[in-house]
Amino acid sequence: MSTDLYEILGVARDASQQDIKRAYRKLAKEYHPDRNPDNPEAEETFKKISTAYEVLSDSEKRDAYDRFGSTNGNPYANAGFGGGGQAQGFGDLFDMLNSVFGGGFGGGGFGGGGRTRGRRGADLQMEITITFQDVANGGKQEVEIPSYDPCKTCDGSGAKPGTSPQTCTMCAGAGVVRTQQGFFTMQRECPRCNGEGTIITDPCKDCSGKGFNKSTEMLDVEIPSGISDGQRMRWSGKGAPGENGGPPGDLYIIVRLEEHSLFERDGRNVTCTMPISFSQAALGDKIDVPTLEGRVNMSVPAGTQTGKVFRLRGKGFPGLEDSSRGDQFVKVVVETPVNLNEEQRELLKRFAELSGDEIHPEKKSFFDRLKNLFD
Ligand SMILES: [Zn+2]
Ligand SMILES: [Zn+2]
Repeated sequence: MSTDLYEILGVARDASQQDIKRAYRKLAKEYHPDRNPDNPEAEETFKKISTAYEVLSDSEKRDAYDRFGSTNGNPYANAGFGGGGQAQGFGDLFDMLNSVFGGGFGGGGFGGGGRTRGRRGADLQMEITITFQDVANGGKQEVEIPSYDPCKTCDGSGAKPGTSPQTCTMCAGAGVVRTQQGFFTMQRECPRCNGEGTIITDPCKDCSGKGFNKSTEMLDVEIPSGISDGQRMRWSGKGAPGENGGPPGDLYIIVRLEEHSLFERDGRNVTCTMPISFSQAALGDKIDVPTLEGRVNMSVPAGTQTGKVFRLRGKGFPGLEDSSRGDQFVKVVVETPVNLNEEQRELLKRFAELSGDEIHPEKKSFFDRLKNLFD
């Protein structure tokens, strides 16, 4: 036998209340247990006819059935119970239908997947700041994260002990409401219950109806070497708790690389700028260069120009997947001496008198080109 209430009564979907009443009376007479003693099949049919009439003769219930009663898709297990002097919600309607027809009513049949169980908890996002050393060598951090412990008083339901959450009457426990816009049926989260399908009328005092108590816990975060700024790490199930028995969300930790006073990062490579003196650049020298692994002695050849970049192989970061390290690029800038004393000034003047084009090839070539431009 069909589970479609209209088919059960043998009426059209737009049947008037009069037609429905007439159809019901006729069928009820036919299948009444008094007229069908010891006939369980007739008794079953009579129950269905009665239920169909109970729903379709009540304009509010009929409306809810028309909107939510389709049986394709996943049935939504309704956890709500009416009672306590509450107006009967549509959840009770579907409970009633489910008890007579054996499931499949209410909530289901919304497009694709449909709601099967409670809502998944929200994802949480946090940031941690890591150092260049962490990227180079990997690291560990203890991070304080929120933890949500189910409330012991209400067993996580959010309802005061001895009471139950009420099925939302606006969405009949589905958590979504549908509106017709032209040819399209739009579906949105139920504004009354915020998509939960139930409403707690008598909240648990210990958790204010949330069903959990928020505290914190320490999470050990292993920072893999080679990780990049902005990268996300995920902890499945460490997010906010689900609703109505839904699974918890995930926790994401976003890595932020702290700025370094000397270094910059360029993928696997490290760059830095080293000031050298005018005489070091001219005469050549060995200079101490900071690297991720401490100081390294680097040769600056005689005649080094400002802006020259030197490469220190293998002094960069490892990759995340393969550990071969990048390089460090050291840019030297020649610093012009300032605050000279008398003796230094005299020496530089003397030096200038002795200096000609032969020790400033760049300058000579520039002025040669300049001359050509105007002559
Ligand atoms: Zn509680
Ligand atoms: Zn609702």
